[in-house]
Amino acid sequence: MRHLTDTHAHTVASTHAYSTVEEYFRAASDKGLQLFSITDHGPEMPDSPHPWHFGNMRVLPRIRYGVAMLRGIEANILPADHHPLDVNHTLMSFMDFGIASFHEPVFPPSDRQTHTRAMIAAMETGLVQILGHPGNPNYPINIGEVVRAARDNNVLIEINNSSFVSSRLGSEPHCIEILETVKALDWKVALSSDSHVHYTIGEVDVALQKIDQIAFPESNIVTLNARRFIEFLGEHGKSVAQDLSEWLADLERPQVSEI
Ligand SMILES: [Zn+2]
Ligand SMILES: [Zn+2]
Repeated sequence: MRHLTDTHAHTVASTHAYSTVEEYFRAASDKGLQLFSITDHGPEMPDSPHPWHFGNMRVLPRIRYGVAMLRGIEANILPADHHPLDVNHTLMSFMDFGIASFHEPVFPPSDRQTHTRAMIAAMETGLVQILGHPGNPNYPINIGEVVRAARDNNVLIEINNSSFVSSRLGSEPHCIEILETVKALDWKVALSSDSHVHYTIGEVDVALQKIDQIAFPESNIVTLNARRFIEFLGEHGKSVAQDLSEWLADLERPQVSEI
């Protein structure tokens, strides 16, 4: 199985990451990806870019070196006495999609019920399309309730490769249980690298091993190729689906040498 997209990556706009848009485009092209996304941190993280970073993304090219880049954000889930997320409709109107994640500097870890309610409230805003790294052991959740809410709100469950190799250590058993629950409830996942440097863009090899391990159906991996993910964003009324429709048709047209 070849996985041809990557929906989660940080650029130099988040200061704990080290690569530029151009470096990501080149690396994604060299690796044969069809599509990737930059998803820097939402405003509440200490290293977040100024909100203008997100509002000005229209100056970025959609396509370079045959690869499409989506304009994303990794929004922060907020504690209960706030709005559920640190983004609003105005900011999200500039974005192709949003990820919602728990991060320790923004949401102090609490108890299972608090985490579960906060995740569900974030998805119910309709502002995000992917639930980021939900296997973090610092944030136990009621997995069944979260996956059912994801399905009800057409939000993908992220299986984040970095959770197995470099971040949020101890995620693995939670990620496996989440994958098994998504499979049992016939829901869908997004696989991503959560790259903080361009060398790792598109690397989802450990996530794919887990997919194989539990015989998770390939049909429910929405990020498997560009068409699936772009059509999913179309279901959310995102104009990028329209913007990239011709590119997608060209991408899939057989080359002269193949006819
Ligand atoms: Zn994150
Ligand atoms: Zn991230």
